[in-house]
Amino acid sequence: MNMPVLLLNANYEPLNVCTTRRALRFLISGKAKMLVNGRGVVHTVRLSYPRPSVIRLGYMIKRPRPRVKLTKHEIFRRDDHICQYCGTHSKGLTIDHIMPRYRGGEYTWSNLVTSCPDCNRRKGGRTLREARMALRKQPREPRASASYLYGSHLPKNEEWQPFLVGW
Ligand SMILES: [Zn+2]
Repeated sequence: MNMPVLLLNANYEPLNVCTTRRALRFLISGKAKMLVNGRGVVHTVRLSYPRPSVIRLGYMIKRPRPRVKLTKHEIFRRDDHICQYCGTHSKGLTIDHIMPRYRGGEYTWSNLVTSCPDCNRRKGGRTLREARMALRKQPREPRASASYLYGSHLPKNEEWQPFLVGW
């Protein structure tokens, strides 16, 4: 009952990933319809239901554009777990403040990058110019596309693929 179900808005925009339990409540109450099943059947005491994988609301939910939460994990992910100075995949990656914290550098998408320990040490508390170092690309807030937000579920839920494209 805890298997993930992709919940779509009435216009097919992916809204969320919820549990099978919650998805069944949407279906039974008539608020949503099942788009993809393919997971067999759920039995309750009296009835059995096809087990949903993708459901779609019968009405539109308005909400602000989703954003990727700024965390260390998400910065590594945005940077493909590659040091943004030397381009290596290394163990023990760190987060570097491009403009050092003590000089007013903020905790923002555009001031944080993935760095290997060596480059982080080499740069120290200096600016890029002072350290004569360069970034491989300008860091930005990643777009919260459906593939970015929910793509990690794809290996186990391949049938979601067509619903994530284009959002
Ligand atoms: Zn490096």
